[in-house]
Amino acid sequence: MINLRARRGEDAAPRPILLSCHIDTKRIEGFIGADDGASGAGVLLELARALAQQPELAAQIEIIFLDGEEAFAPSMTARDGLYGSRYDVARRGEGELPSFQINLDMVGGRDTRIAVSAPDSSDAMLRRYARAIAAAGLSPQRWSLTERSYLDDHRPYLEAGVDSLNLIADFSGSDWWHTPRDSAERLSPRLMGECARLLLQLLPELCRERRSCSNVCPQ
Ligand SMILES: [Zn+2]
Repeated sequence: MINLRARRGEDAAPRPILLSCHIDTKRIEGFIGADDGASGAGVLLELARALAQQPELAAQIEIIFLDGEEAFAPSMTARDGLYGSRYDVARRGEGELPSFQINLDMVGGRDTRIAVSAPDSSDAMLRRYARAIAAAGLSPQRWSLTERSYLDDHRPYLEAGVDSLNLIADFSGSDWWHTPRDSAERLSPRLMGECARLLLQLLPELCRERRSCSNVCPQ
């Protein structure tokens, strides 16, 4: 398995903001995984293009394309799945973890709604999410919350103390998830565009928060 990491600039200093998605797909006969999880990679690639116009902000961000999110077995467990994210957290030393992480998974479905897990998110992150939805003019019905918790690529970072936000569709009860029906026809350019707009609201805010914190907190 291979994680791909992308940063702007030459310096090796850890970046405070990590954007992530997974690039592997479930091993299922005929499975393409257009939404799970190519949609997240598509949004991050386009976002990287947009961020090239904002070099100061881009310098605060690392993008990681994670491998091995999916389990070998039909269902994920604590030990089967999240291989890339668990490896990345273990690989980073103390002080090399980001302050913030935003993970994208299944953010492109034509008929889905995003359901951020309230129990998996800090109160501060939920407030930022709500503000960004309003500022980007998005529907709070389509960009919603759930009381469910997820085993996803945010979890290893969350457990290591990173302030994480997992943008993921509510796929409970869906008839396409982990089936060959998760194909390109399922994708909604509109939802993917909304996701990018949400990120373009959130990222400068995270950057500002980090700056005001490092002014008052001893390093
Ligand atoms: Zn999956």
